[in-house]
Amino acid sequence: MTVTLSRDPASEAAAVERVRVAIIGAGFAGLGMAIRLRQAGYEDFVVFERASEVGGTWRDNSYPGAAVDVRSHLYSYSFAPNPDWTQVLAGQVELWDYIRRVSRENGVDDHVRLETEVLGGEWDDDAQRWRLRTSRGDVEAQFVVSAMGPLSNPSVPDIPGLEDFRGHVFHSGRWDHDHDLTGERVGVIGTGSSAAQFVPEIAERTAHLTVFQRTPHWTFPRLNRRITRAERAAYHRLPALQRLVRARQYWFHELVLGSAVQHPVVTETISRARLRWVVRDPELRGKLTPSYRMGCKRIVINDSFLPALTRPDVSLVTDPIVRVTPHGVLTADGTEHPLDTIVLGTGFQVMPVADPLRGRDGDTLTERWADRRAAHLGTTVAGFPNYFMLVGPNTATGHTSILLYAEPQIEYVVEVLRHADRHGIGSFEVRQQAQDAFNDGIRERLRTTIWTTGGCDSWYLNERDGTSVLWPGFTWSFRKALRRFDHENYLMHRDAPRRDHGAVRQPD
Ligand code: NAP
Repeated sequence: MTVTLSRDPASEAAAVERVRVAIIGAGFAGLGMAIRLRQAGYEDFVVFERASEVGGTWRDNSYPGAAVDVRSHLYSYSFAPNPDWTQVLAGQVELWDYIRRVSRENGVDDHVRLETEVLGGEWDDDAQRWRLRTSRGDVEAQFVVSAMGPLSNPSVPDIPGLEDFRGHVFHSGRWDHDHDLTGERVGVIGTGSSAAQFVPEIAERTAHLTVFQRTPHWTFPRLNRRITRAERAAYHRLPALQRLVRARQYWFHELVLGSAVQHPVVTETISRARLRWVVRDPELRGKLTPSYRMGCKRIVINDSFLPALTRPDVSLVTDPIVRVTPHGVLTADGTEHPLDTIVLGTGFQVMPVADPLRGRDGDTLTERWADRRAAHLGTTVAGFPNYFMLVGPNTATGHTSILLYAEPQIEYVVEVLRHADRHGIGSFEVRQQAQDAFNDGIRERLRTTIWTTGGCDSWYLNERDGTSVLWPGFTWSFRKALRRFDHENYLMHRDAPRRDHGAVRQPD
């Protein structure tokens, strides 16, 4: 099936494609949006993807050992269960295969424009349309859904001398599979969830591995296991059984891990005991002992990282990095650590926004958020009509599946489209007052979370304006907040100027 794009016959805008919905990003959230649009009967949409394949995080993070740390039956779309997961915590290849398969089976692939980057765009208030410029031409869209993921662009640290290093450098989020680390002296900067997964894998083949740690992370066991063939067969035969397993996993993450993150007394005790058990050397153990509360930063759910650090051919360096030299890394104690390759496990630029887009008043989101990052329900922004963010501010999680937050947002967008169809609405813009009230509430709730009181710096919080990436509560309260389209909080303009965008086919 191909997407039919209507063309404006009247002007040279004849080259401009017109669609009802433009989705930016073909990761878990963007493809989920596309699937639900089709299921709701909407066909007039495109998904712009700058890369050459769909998959988002699970396409990009292909480093050795990459895997999810949320149970797979929960870390999948509620509308596309996968009876074939082979592990309780699936690996990257399996996750990427799942996303591609679900996208294909739900007829979404034909809507995806690969290698097409959205370069810019403005809201045209007269036409009540977004005018987008992409790397493959101009597109006019009534609605834009930004699904770019909160952690999609690698963060390259501003360490002096890094560009002059004579060896090889790459980031964990863009692993260089053509570069063989066998027999090399390798330095890893960072000890977050990504580094903790690839360090044990590459330690098997490097001549020497030096891990540069700025802050120790709390760790917790993965509790992974293989899912047996018999279990998988049972899920095929009895889908209700799989739903039951998913429900159990939901409540485990929600009640056990969600509560543990905010009240970590027991989990801290377990984590400390495990550290004592695995790391016998008191000096190394001291370096690995956090001085802030567990849950303040993202907990590293991992079994093999601590044992890898006890290997004789692995060193943990905690002296601060002064600079990178042409042949290694110089630390504050005056030691130069000679290296052939540096792997940056330094995380991501948090929450990139569709910055080339300019809202009703001509400003970008970065400009609008100069004082404070704020969105209504983490989804819509005053001054940006017909613009939705999936996994926007205050909608990520540190204790369960991100899809439990993305899916209510997706349903919210579908409800908005239905409302537009039912009432002949051309545009929706959240009222500033409603957005402010929502964000004041969030700010109040954030004051008592462990992310604020736990005594650490993390990507969860924006130091400048005190806002958070995470939802300060359980998933059910987020779902409740988005369960219906609160149209009373929106300014609405009637009469979409071009009715040809409004065609809806019957749901599948
Ligand atoms: P991250 O958690 O942000 O960790 C980045 C690491 O780099 C930290 O140890 C940080 O130290 C260090 N770092 C950053 N800049 C540095 C500098 N200039 N000098 C020295 N060290 C520096 O990034 P990530 O490990 O890629 O993980 C990002 C997120 O992705 C995770 O929090 C998690 O939500 C998700 N993730 C999940 C899984 C999973 O198992 N499902 C796996 C990977 C990632 P500081 O702590 O001092 O800042």
